[in-house]
Amino acid sequence: MPAAPTSIDGPAPRVAERALNNKLLDMLACPICKAPLEHRPADDVLVCRAERLAFPIRDGIPVLLEDEARSLSHVEFSGGEGPATP
Ligand SMILES: [Zn+2]
Repeated sequence: MPAAPTSIDGPAPRVAERALNNKLLDMLACPICKAPLEHRPADDVLVCRAERLAFPIRDGIPVLLEDEARSLSHVEFSGGEGPATP
């Protein structure tokens, strides 16, 4: 295992409080695992596939906080793609 890098604790860039466009949504990453988030317009949430968390979007602003995220059930999560072998 490589030594853990020093934590990066700089000021997080703020998302402009404007209407989101797909480009922006595309760039958003999970605050926990840094994986790209998947926008689900039907629910208006951003989904991290790694943790199966859905981050809400309020007034067009994605709330990328673990406390605010909602766990997705297996049924909700599986969009019929990918192997679901535990
Ligand atoms: Zn994640």
